[in-house]
Amino acid sequence: MQQIKFNRWHERQLFVSFAWLLSCLLCGFLFAAIVEFVGINFSGIFSILTLIVLYGIGIAIIELFRRFWMQFSLAQHCASSATCSSCGSYGLFEVRVGAWPIYARCNKCDHQWVIGQDDE
Ligand SMILES: [Zn+2]
Repeated sequence: MQQIKFNRWHERQLFVSFAWLLSCLLCGFLFAAIVEFVGINFSGIFSILTLIVLYGIGIAIIELFRRFWMQFSLAQHCASSATCSSCGSYGLFEVRVGAWPIYARCNKCDHQWVIGQDDE
């Protein structure tokens, strides 16, 4: 399994979370554009189809924002636990990509701790 430095891992988490947020915003613009330029003021099958499309985009917006928030809060939670309690150095350990929880071992003093368990 690939191992990378914590700072790099944290940067990746933030990058992915903001990609989710950007997608969420783009869907929001799409939603607003459909309401503005197509509208829902006419009757018939086209109006129902427009409402179905808007419903789908609305669900996507909620899901994309949820993903952004989960990834962002995970990254921030891990960053707040990344300081070695023994020597005080920040983020001096490697992270296995995809592994959870994160088993941290300080590169400076060899102190070990676990990030991501419910032990706050
Ligand atoms: Zn340390």
